[in-house]
Amino acid sequence: MNFLITGVAGFLGAALARRLVREGHQVRGLDDLSTGDPNRVPPEVLFTRGDVNDRPKLWTLLHDIDCVYHLAARVSVPESVLYPREYNQVNVGGTVTLMEAIRDVGVRRVIFVSSGAVYGHQPTQPLREDMLPNPGSPYAVSKLAAEHYVHTIGRRWGVETVALRVFNAYGPHQPLPPAYPPVVANFLYQAVRGGTLVIHGDGTQTRDFVYVDDVVQALVAAATAPGVAYQTINVGSGVETAVRDLAERIVALTGRRAQIIHNPRGQSGVPRMRADLTKARRLLRYEPRFSLEAGLQATLEQDSRFHMPAPVPQQAL
Ligand code: NAD
Repeated sequence: MNFLITGVAGFLGAALARRLVREGHQVRGLDDLSTGDPNRVPPEVLFTRGDVNDRPKLWTLLHDIDCVYHLAARVSVPESVLYPREYNQVNVGGTVTLMEAIRDVGVRRVIFVSSGAVYGHQPTQPLREDMLPNPGSPYAVSKLAAEHYVHTIGRRWGVETVALRVFNAYGPHQPLPPAYPPVVANFLYQAVRGGTLVIHGDGTQTRDFVYVDDVVQALVAAATAPGVAYQTINVGSGVETAVRDLAERIVALTGRRAQIIHNPRGQSGVPRMRADLTKARRLLRYEPRFSLEAGLQATLEQDSRFHMPAPVPQQAL
């Protein structure tokens, strides 16, 4: 098949590109490199640097494409609180521009990568797709608005659309920006250096951490699965882990003497998040394969940022 991936130089986009290329598909990729790294993109991908709001560029890229994966976005919840206009322009505006270009050129299917963040604070768990979303940040609002645009424009023009609500993805080569780093990569980085793992709040807040290969498995299935048009589907591990528990497991796994501290005034977000996977299992035959331990272990092994020399034994000092 011929695929276009927007946000191909990002964490999830590059992992998806590697998998599609390995399976022998033709892959084009678009990324403005605002946070993406071109070195992540496999050489077999026909890569174009550009903005997802550039409609003429999209027309060219979309020619002869069967399926579009739309991942280009600004992705930080706290940053979106500071810059909501930018999040609206890229995540909502960029999605509408892409859907207009898709309408003009004609593509069979679009897979939009949404987020579990759209659920926000809910009275019950696990989180099911038919719950009323309660977005608690401009990022979450932008993802929810983009879901509606994708499905609505898709329906009107006969383009099959699928929105996948990905929960907290982690794995090798996840970007680690100095401001608002993602929790798993940040904890691993601190732990292997014997640094400090800072937990915002009391650490009882839970998240559904899903390993990148499991996310890619769901993304790949969504391209060809029957009966998924205009559906919104959760992609997580189905397991909730308290952030405090995550920190302790990572320290134990790395075997370093890292410290865990609490920032009581930090933003801890919603108290609980766990994906209900019933719909993903039914429609995508999705089954997460990586336990948290296995995913953390694989991340440590495959990401050189987490490779540290063994600590010097006490008696050698
Ligand atoms: P990422 O930041 O690594 O990737 C996003 C990519 O989009 C980057 O390479 C960036 O350069 C590119 N981009 C940003 N603005 C652009 C623009 N205007 N035009 C073209 N490219 C642009 O983040 P990621 O974790 O790989 O996330 C990919 C997608 O998955 C995003 O849509 C994100 O909202 C969604 N998602 C991620 C997670 C997660 O835990 N990683 C969870 C839920 C949803």
